[in-house]
This record gives sequence, structure tokens and C-alpha cells, in this order.
Amino acid sequence: MSFTDLPPILGDALTERGYEKPTAVQAAVIEQEAAGRDLIVSAQTGSGKTVAFGLAMAEQMLGDSGAVPYGIQPLAMVIAPTRELALQVSRELGWLYSKAGARIATCVGGMDASKERRSLRGGAQIVVGTPGRLRDHLERGALDLSALKTVVLDEADEMLDMGFREELEAILDGTPEGRRTLLFSATMPKSIVSLAKRYQNNALRIST
Ligand code: AMP
Repeated sequence: MSFTDLPPILGDALTERGYEKPTAVQAAVIEQEAAGRDLIVSAQTGSGKTVAFGLAMAEQMLGDSGAVPYGIQPLAMVIAPTRELALQVSRELGWLYSKAGARIATCVGGMDASKERRSLRGGAQIVVGTPGRLRDHLERGALDLSALKTVVLDEADEMLDMGFREELEAILDGTPEGRRTLLFSATMPKSIVSLAKRYQNNALRIST
């Protein structure tokens, strides 16, 4: 697999960034076998996992024109354990999807919630946030998940270790049936396996 097999709008962004070839986890998630499926991925920080889930969601993000269609409701949501990680994910998806025209709303604890609500209302195709803040927006009706096609759990083991199971379940219970669930975790303890069983369908296991 190489970046030239990707939709050009993403391949160009990667080339401009100076990346020459996919990392192992990126190659695995863009294999034909992984297309459209739920994924449970063992991935460490530094493996290129952020770009990996950015590429994995491409199929659900890009319309017939090859770019992200305009819409008010998010198509993809990434849930991350900490504010720092969420901001990092937003930056990374920001350059990857900027040519494709995606708008990203970042929703994290400790930031101005009313600004986030405005950004959600203005139309963001990708939402990135921490579990507590995302649940908050969902319960207040500021986050509409009705058009969501892909949900990503980044560093899922960290989120469970930090005690976010209840928030994660509340958010996942608010996502539509038929969405794709991509679970990324450095470790795969029983708690992750049980979360995956509950929220994923016939997931493809990837370890690189
Ligand atoms: P991550 O595992 O997502 O934290 O990524 C680690 C670092 O590797 C980030 O700075 C990425 O921008 C960078 N990176 C991701 N994919 C590639 C690639 N294919 N080639 C070179 N660097 C990459």
C-alpha cells in the first residue's frame, strides 16, 4: 500500500507534509480488507496512529466530488482521553483534511463551552473532544450525532483507566446504528475487549 492508492486530496496533503510512505498501522487500516469495517487496533503513540484513523475514516468523509460534503452535522467524531491529545488530534486532522474542506470542532474540558457550541452550530464535519465535554454537549443538545458515520476511540485504555467508561457509554449510546467504530488502544485488557464487544460489529483486529 502506498499514499498513491489514497484519494488524491489526502495523498496530496501527506506528500506536501513530506511523508513518503505509510507507517505499518497506516498501511494496515487502508488495506482492502479493512474497508468499511469496525477496527480494533493495537497502536502506540508515535506509530502514526492519528493519521491512520484519519485515513481509515476517509471513505465515510469524502463525497462523490472527492471532497467533504457541506453539512451541519458531524460525520466523524474522535474521543481522546486528555485535552492535550484532543488538541493534537485536531491539528493533525486539520492539515490532513484542509484541502478536502473539512471543518473541525474541538470540544475539551477547561475551554469556553459557549465558543464550542457556536463552532458546532456553524457546521463541523469532524468533532474531536474529551469524554466529559462531549457528553455535556450531547446532553445539552449542542452536539447532533444523527449523521455520524465514524466514531474513533483514541487511547481507549487510557480513557477507561481515567474512569471515563460511563461517559463513553453515554456518548456511544447516542450514536446511530450502522456507524463505524474504530477503537485504538496501546493495550488490550479485558475491559477494552468488553467495550469492543458491546459497541463493535465483527471488528477486524489489527496489531502491527
Ligand atoms: P502519532 O502516532 O499519531 O502520535 O504520530 C507520531 C508522529 O509521526 C506525528 O508527528 C505524525 O505527524 C508523524 N507521522 C505520521 N504518519 C507519518 C508518516 N507516514 N511518515 C512520517 N511521519 C509520520
